[in-house]
Amino acid sequence: MNPFQVLIDEQRTFFKSEKTFTYAFRKEQLEKLRNMLKTYEKDVYQALEADFGKSRYETLTTELGFLYSEIDVTLKNLKEWMKPKKVDTPVTHKGSKSYIIAEPYGVTLTIAPWNYPLQLAIAPVIGALAAGNTAIIKPSEFTPATSSLLVHMIGSTFGSKYVAVVEGEKEVSQQLLELKFDYIFFTGSTTVGKIIMKQASEHLTPVTLELGGKSPAIVDQDANIDLAAKRIVWGKFTNAGQTCVAPDFLYVHEKVKQKLVKSMKKYIKSFYGKNPINNKEYGRIVNQDHYYRLKDLLTESNIVHGGGMNPDLCSIEPTIIEDITWDDDIMQEEIFGPLLPVMTFANLEEAIATLKEKEKPLALYYFGENTQSQQRVLDSLSFGGGCINDTLYHLANPNLPFGGVGNSGMGSYHGKDSFDTFSHKKSVLKQTTKFDIPLRYPGSKIAQSITKRIMK
Ligand code: NAD
Repeated sequence: MNPFQVLIDEQRTFFKSEKTFTYAFRKEQLEKLRNMLKTYEKDVYQALEADFGKSRYETLTTELGFLYSEIDVTLKNLKEWMKPKKVDTPVTHKGSKSYIIAEPYGVTLTIAPWNYPLQLAIAPVIGALAAGNTAIIKPSEFTPATSSLLVHMIGSTFGSKYVAVVEGEKEVSQQLLELKFDYIFFTGSTTVGKIIMKQASEHLTPVTLELGGKSPAIVDQDANIDLAAKRIVWGKFTNAGQTCVAPDFLYVHEKVKQKLVKSMKKYIKSFYGKNPINNKEYGRIVNQDHYYRLKDLLTESNIVHGGGMNPDLCSIEPTIIEDITWDDDIMQEEIFGPLLPVMTFANLEEAIATLKEKEKPLALYYFGENTQSQQRVLDSLSFGGGCINDTLYHLANPNLPFGGVGNSGMGSYHGKDSFDTFSHKKSVLKQTTKFDIPLRYPGSKIAQSITKRIMK
């Protein structure tokens, strides 16, 4: 028998008890989740430090702070989100009322990656619980300290029939996926996303896939170059480049390339000092496999800044690489590390035409002052989400749905979108019995001729 069958059966029984259906219950659980994070804050800092040298400041801003804000937005609006939404009813349906009920799916599974191991395991669960579901979380095996802290925190806060954490390698995911869930929320690579979707189809389970891709940062000739450099350096090298929406590569107008690279070098030094590898504010690469994968991408490159690395610390300096072509290895896959290739273009239309040929990225960033050019980029290129004149910041606005398109994923979350993602929209028409308009029934010639006229 599948080792997780009992757990899922218990969660389904609990779900069927309808305890999770009320506003009061959901509110109480979200408050418990918030208190849990507060209580274990110190342990969270330690776990992320142990897993891949994440600084306290990055943990606060990109993991804990993000989760507090998501829980607060949800608590503030949940009552409103849960209300049935009345919609218009056409004249042919006179006497009836139509509305949409947000109903929970049931037992949900969240599979998380390692790069923001706390945030990406808990953020979907905020939506799942707010919408009245139960939750099973499968954290990444690559961040074991955070994974075992999740087991401890969740275990001491919730009963496993409501929220449970299942640790393990990909085989554990596979065992879970054999069973029937009512919703699967996956964050990870495009390759694994395809496997998840295939397995989910066995049970016709709906999925959200939060995947990755090669997200460009385009810098046009009229951009505020110094500010662009600062915001790109921050977006790229936060978490040592291991961010799904980090600018993967730089695509800059040839006339401003030198100036931009010079400014970026200045900000790398200002943020991480002369020796980033020994700087506690600068993160490590998650493990040796990823370290050597990144090292191999560097061999044939022309390094104009950084390039220093230390295998014992699993650390690679913020690195800028020039003279790259679209055929180089580094341009074939998502880099997911602190290497920034610089490509150039001669005019914006050429850049747009080139990017149109690529897979749709999770994010796109455009730097330039001209509003027509900004609009041109937004109108012509498809991407999950992004910014004009900034990087990463869009994902921290709870009013903006976050998710990919095409190869970078499907579905979205954050704020109300998380609640919507984990709710089935049940459409209901409530009919009157006081009268009965005969138009739809066969038999009457007059009724048929009126119907034909209405439906023309
Ligand atoms: P991954 O796809 O290798 O693993 C993610 C999770 O899936 C892990 O929990 C892992 O145990 C599980 N898994 C791995 N192989 C599996 C299999 N064959 N069957 C079932 N489960 C399996 O991803 P990763 O290396 O942990 O994370 C990096 C990737 O995630 C990058 O591509 C990055 O862009 C993407 N990502 C996307 C987002 C987003 O919000 N869109 C956020 C963070 C990371």
